[in-house]
Amino acid sequence: MTHAAPADVHDSNRDTYIVARDAVRFEVRGLPVAQGSLRAFRTRGGYPVITSTAKGLAAWRRLVADVAQRHAPPEPWDGPLAVELSFRLPKPKSAAKRKRWPDKRPDLDKLARAALDAITHVVIRDDSHVVRLLAGKDYGPPGVVVTVVRLCPWCGLPREHTPTRDCTGLEGRR
Ligand SMILES: [Zn+2]
Repeated sequence: MTHAAPADVHDSNRDTYIVARDAVRFEVRGLPVAQGSLRAFRTRGGYPVITSTAKGLAAWRRLVADVAQRHAPPEPWDGPLAVELSFRLPKPKSAAKRKRWPDKRPDLDKLARAALDAITHVVIRDDSHVVRLLAGKDYGPPGVVVTVVRLCPWCGLPREHTPTRDCTGLEGRR
């Protein structure tokens, strides 16, 4: 049995190929909304009420899912996966000019929750497949850069090679 890893075949243009095959990165432009801002509750009369923030959340998640769909593999990836989420938030006018970090709401973990949910069943099969999550929020043009990298289940490194049970991650590397 031969393992003609496409990474070897396309060695001269390795990075480009690997990105297409075992990793995706895409940018979503829009105001990031945190999960948990969805507040569906019942009034005394028993009618369910969803706040306007919830509409923002649904729209944001739909936007992320739409962009993700354009960059998605034919089938959502199974784990192990590494995910990086870089959120950019507008600096409020009230914030000091030299303020470096957006250390206020929305919470970073809840921003991540919403974005992860949005790419589930699109880029990733299930949240449980994510074994590494790196998230950050910063000031900048509102949006998020999403990176999903498939990892080798055996050696743990990015899948730039054909995974085999005895692989050390050194195959096909220079
Ligand atoms: Zn490996």
